[in-house]
Amino acid sequence: MVDQIKVIRGMHDILPAQMHVWHQIEDSWRHLVENYGYQQIRTPVLEKTALFRRSIGEVTDIVEKEMYSFDDIGGDNLSLRPEGTASVVRAGIENGLLVNQQQKLWYNGSMFRRERPQKGRYRQFHQLGAETFGMPGADIEAELIFMAARFWKKLGLQHIELQINTLGTAETRLVYKEILLAYLREHLSELDEDSLRRLETNPLRILDSKNPDMQGMIEAAPQLMDHLDQQSAEHFAELCEILDYNGQAYQVNKRLVRGLDYYSHTVFEWVTSTLGAQGTVCAGGRYDSLVEQLGGKPGSAAGFAMGIERLVLMLEEQAKVQPAPQADVYFVMVGENTVKTGQKLAEQLRDALPDLRISVHSGGGSFKSQLKKADKSGAVIALILGESELQKSTINIKFLRQEKPQLELEQAQLLDKISAIINE
Ligand code: ATP
Ligand code: MG
Repeated sequence: MVDQIKVIRGMHDILPAQMHVWHQIEDSWRHLVENYGYQQIRTPVLEKTALFRRSIGEVTDIVEKEMYSFDDIGGDNLSLRPEGTASVVRAGIENGLLVNQQQKLWYNGSMFRRERPQKGRYRQFHQLGAETFGMPGADIEAELIFMAARFWKKLGLQHIELQINTLGTAETRLVYKEILLAYLREHLSELDEDSLRRLETNPLRILDSKNPDMQGMIEAAPQLMDHLDQQSAEHFAELCEILDYNGQAYQVNKRLVRGLDYYSHTVFEWVTSTLGAQGTVCAGGRYDSLVEQLGGKPGSAAGFAMGIERLVLMLEEQAKVQPAPQADVYFVMVGENTVKTGQKLAEQLRDALPDLRISVHSGGGSFKSQLKKADKSGAVIALILGESELQKSTINIKFLRQEKPQLELEQAQLLDKISAIINE
């Protein structure tokens, strides 16, 4: 026997038995965002590595150690996308969607990060996201938050809490950076290796560290929130006011800085305590500077992304979704010559009733084994075609979910009667 080739560590097959949960999430999402007037965009999974270096930031975990990058034969260094925002901005600039325009966009796609695999943390995962362009106010940030809140409600998910913070303007962050640096230099001995490296390049990132040994020092650090300029303070106050007015609960988390470089002003996360360490289900904020950073005209941008796998885990744990039956009708055909006629009848049924889900038995087998499959399919009736029915041009209907006697029909009557029979 040859060796079996296994799936790559941290990557997953999503099997048929799990698909109903995925569909529930993806279908509700699409319905929701379309109701809010958002349009879908799809971008390639491969991009030039430079796109992520320039947007996510050189000194971030993603760019330093988590990307799947390789040299293309053509000479470009390419990467599997670790997130969706950079690609959406690139596509928006490249296709002229962002100049003097407002856009409300959404996407659904696979992302790749070479992280340490854990429950809720994988190397290929899937994100649903929304990105908006051309709207500088706190009102669009509030809309994004309302949209996510409505999504949890639609899915029946509980125990997801909203945390918000502001990173202020670039000027505010520059002033704060010096204050933070002074503090961190006083606590050099408490910094881990990653943080020491980030001290000069990106000290704000240190606050995002998940190292438990550093949490006390991080807690006590001076906070950006206490050093906001007037514009930053007003923007944040406006968001809070809209959320309050709409009864949207939130916590201000002054330590929320987000792991990516491109945010400014509002940042937010939706967090649950039900997923252990992987508690963030959705994250986003304002990233006005990114469009210009990627070569577009200066403009406003805000958005969020959520991990589908974490929602799947929550739905499974809270037992919110039941699989739907696979078929309405299961076609049983016993005897060598019955298959041709059976398939023809099934195709005629499909022509006449496109919404009817018809599973046609394939691969032969006894009457008994076929009926077992019919039962397992969840179908309401089995259509039975044996040699004797074939000769008489009839078909038998067996009720799988009701105590009713079997019914024999002329094949020619089947099209007219089947709907009534199923719905009886
Ligand atoms: P975390 O703090 O959990 O690492 P993050 O801040 O890196 O998350 P983002 O880059 O903002 O996450 O991505 C948005 C969402 O995508 C996260 O809130 C999470 O639900 C999901 N996500 C991120 N990384 C992974 C992963 N490796 N596996 C599964 N889902 C992920
Ligand atoms: Mg992360």
